[in-house]
Amino acid sequence: MDQIIIEDLKVFAHHGVYREEQEQGQNFYINAVLETDTRRAGIMDDLAFSTNYGEVCVFVSSFLQEHTYRLIETAAEQTAQALLLRFPLIRRVSLEVRKPEAPIPLPFGSVSVKIVRGWRRACLSCGSNMGDRKAHLDGAVASLRADVKCRVLRVSDWIETAPYGGVAQDDFLNGAIVLDTIYTPEELLERLHEIEKEHQRERKVHWGPRTLDLDILLYEGCVMYTEELTIPHADMANRDFVLKPLAQIAPYERHPLSGKSILQMCGELELISSP
Ligand code: ATP
Ligand code: CA
Ligand code: CA
Repeated sequence: MDQIIIEDLKVFAHHGVYREEQEQGQNFYINAVLETDTRRAGIMDDLAFSTNYGEVCVFVSSFLQEHTYRLIETAAEQTAQALLLRFPLIRRVSLEVRKPEAPIPLPFGSVSVKIVRGWRRACLSCGSNMGDRKAHLDGAVASLRADVKCRVLRVSDWIETAPYGGVAQDDFLNGAIVLDTIYTPEELLERLHEIEKEHQRERKVHWGPRTLDLDILLYEGCVMYTEELTIPHADMANRDFVLKPLAQIAPYERHPLSGKSILQMCGELELISSP
C-alpha cells in the first residue's frame, strides 16, 4: 500500500510518570507512516482523494497536547486510534513517539515506542432461533453499525435453516456480516458477547436455542487457537448455514489454512451433502 510519511513532528507536551514531567512538559517527536491508497489523488491531482498531511500534523499535535498520559505506550496507542477514527482513508498507521529528554540518569540518544495499528477485515456469522429472530439479527447489525470501532461493509440476506448439532429446537435465521474493525480479535469477541447479552442470550445447552449467536469466522488472514478463541472458526467448512450467506457477500475471501475461497468451500460442502 502507498505511504504518506511524517518525520519528527515536534510537540511540546506533558506525558510522563513523574510529577515534574506532567507539570513542566518536554519535547516529543512523532514519526508516522500512514498507509493509504494515493493512486486516485495522484492521477487527479486532487487532495480530496487523499489525506491532508498538514491536517494530520495539526491533529496529532493538538491531541498530544490536550491529553496527558503517564506512558508513551498510551500516548502512541491513543493517538493511533484517534487518527484511524478521524481520517477514514488511512488503512493502517505506524506511529513512533520519541522522547529524547526522558529523565534517564545516563547519557542516551533517545527512547521511543513504535506501534502499528489499522483496520482489519473480519467476517462474522449470526444466528437466532428464539423470539423475534429477525429483530435480533437486525439489532446486532445496528449495534455494530453504531460502534465507531467497526465499519459494517456488507450484510447477507437472513436465511431460514434447520438446527445443527442434534438438539431438538426451532429453525434458525442465519446470516453473515463483513466489517472492518480496529478491535483485536479478543476485543471483537468481547464486543460480540456484549451484543449477545443485550439480546438476553443465555448459555444453557451447547448448540441449544438462542436469541442471538455471533461468531468470528475469519479475521484478516489471522490464525489463532486459544482457550477463548479459534480463528478461523473451527467448524465453518462443515456448515452450509454459515458458508451460504457468507458466499453472498464475500465469495472470494479465503480460508487462511486451506487457501480455499468461500465459494469453493460452499461448492465442496454441497457435493458432500447432496445424495
Ligand atoms: P460453535 O462455536 O460451535 O458455533 P456456539 O456458537 O454455540 O458453538 P457458544 O456457546 O456461543 O458456542 O460459545 C462458546 C465459546 O466459544 C465462546 O465463549 C468463545 O470463547 C468460544 N469461541 C472460540 N472461537 C470462537 C469464534 N471464532 N467465534 C466466537 N466464539 C468462539
Ligand atoms: Ca455458533
Ligand atoms: Ca457462539
